[in-house]
Amino acid sequence: MTRERLYLFDTTLRDGQQTAGVDFALEEKLAVARMLDGIGVDYIEGGYPGANPTDTAFFAQKHDFRHARFTAFGMTKRAGRSAANDPGLQTVLAARSDALCFVAKSWDYHVEVALGTTLEENLKSIRETVKAGVASGRETMIDCEHFFDGYKANPEYALACAKAAYEAGARWVVLCDTNGGTLPHEVSKIVSEVVAHIPGDRLGIHPHDDTGCAVANALAAVDAGVRQIQGTLNGLGERCGNANLVTLIPTLKLKDEYRGRFETGISDEGLRNLTQLSRMLDEILNRNPNRHAPYVGANAFATKAGIHASAILKDPRTYEHVTPESVGNKRRVMVSDQGGKSNLLAELKRIGIEVGKDDPRLTRLLNEVKARENLGYAYEGAAASFELLARRVLGSVPNYFDVDSFRTSVERRQKKGEWDTVCEAVVKLRVNGESLMSVAEGNGPVNALDGALRKDLGIYQPFIEDLRLTDFKVRILNGGTEAVTRVTIESADGNGDVWTTVGVSPNIIDASFQALVDSVTFKLLKSDAPAP
Ligand SMILES: [Zn+2]
Repeated sequence: MTRERLYLFDTTLRDGQQTAGVDFALEEKLAVARMLDGIGVDYIEGGYPGANPTDTAFFAQKHDFRHARFTAFGMTKRAGRSAANDPGLQTVLAARSDALCFVAKSWDYHVEVALGTTLEENLKSIRETVKAGVASGRETMIDCEHFFDGYKANPEYALACAKAAYEAGARWVVLCDTNGGTLPHEVSKIVSEVVAHIPGDRLGIHPHDDTGCAVANALAAVDAGVRQIQGTLNGLGERCGNANLVTLIPTLKLKDEYRGRFETGISDEGLRNLTQLSRMLDEILNRNPNRHAPYVGANAFATKAGIHASAILKDPRTYEHVTPESVGNKRRVMVSDQGGKSNLLAELKRIGIEVGKDDPRLTRLLNEVKARENLGYAYEGAAASFELLARRVLGSVPNYFDVDSFRTSVERRQKKGEWDTVCEAVVKLRVNGESLMSVAEGNGPVNALDGALRKDLGIYQPFIEDLRLTDFKVRILNGGTEAVTRVTIESADGNGDVWTTVGVSPNIIDASFQALVDSVTFKLLKSDAPAP
């Protein structure tokens, strides 16, 4: 049985850029476009040439995509002018691209109120814009803005807009749920009615996620006949975002229902790169990845409970709907006091430590983990501290340095009539027989301590030059008579590795210092620093 071709259209760089706080620089746009092309996305919408300097520069570049069709976005011709006399349209037509996508009004209310023109003029704009695009020799498509709301208000007119585009030669007529309020059963019904007039292999869907149904709406539209899906990486987009291609791609590639019927441009290798691609985008945006993201989140294949963990080791299929490797993710069995030996064995295996299940050290480690979790340590979110603890119990962590003492002070002082805070820290260490003392200032006591600890580590200094702290979290735990503080620190280095460490104490400074020391020790361990 031959499968039908389903096309994926990415608009991360155009609609995704509408997200509050997101503004891609030229280099970032190039990096995202390369990643999208690399996995086999069919269309990459680069932006709106002429609308801003970055988009204009992006379209001035020569793009050499292996697979994707580079698409310029613009508006349909303004009413009352010819296509040749519309400077906005001409700028888009002049841009270097393989395809063109124009947005058109399709809700009668918007045509008359927002555009201030007549319904017939708007149809004429659609026709002439499509003709001008096709005449430029490029694949041309029309995004019918507010199509579903327009269809509910005036089905004849919304359909007339879509048909005008199709009859004028548009390769794709894209039905947009611009407000994102349409539900899957409405998408099914409306798309089925449109398919009676325009063939499904000429129709696309552009859903927004305002009811949390963007992915479901895309699938409903495909089931009803459309053959192009528009979405963004990680669901980036204005308000609640667009349909998330990172969720849709594995569903289309791995679920029998879709895999059996459709072929996409995404290669199996592209699918395996999806987790990395999703995290790279977050890296570019300087955001923390969503741990609970379907398929690619750090927790997507993580299990906590002990009885599940042992079953997963026996047969992962019983607890996983797809294999984590298929999307480039990892299975993770979290260490927690709910878990038993099987949890621990699985986690040790994952970090490359082989221990026999009857090894007495395993019981010792389990007891140690439980005792520490009782004190407030949480290792499921601090894998580096867990690894250090495990390797210590198993006897394989060198004693790189000893801390003799540390001290930090916070001073508020008057400076020209205003209060100023100065924090200072002193750390005394012994490294390889050498006594070292470092002093540092910081904007807070932990910042100052971090500076002093990493200022001079003697023979180990070269190994920690690229270490930086990327996140710092404090949680106050109520442990009966006395409150306990848990500090979690996330660190990163020049290799792009990220690790998390934890410290617990009634004193926040002490808890922070433990987590800092673990972070530095872990960095030395993973860098294969020689034992003193
Ligand atoms: Zn949109």
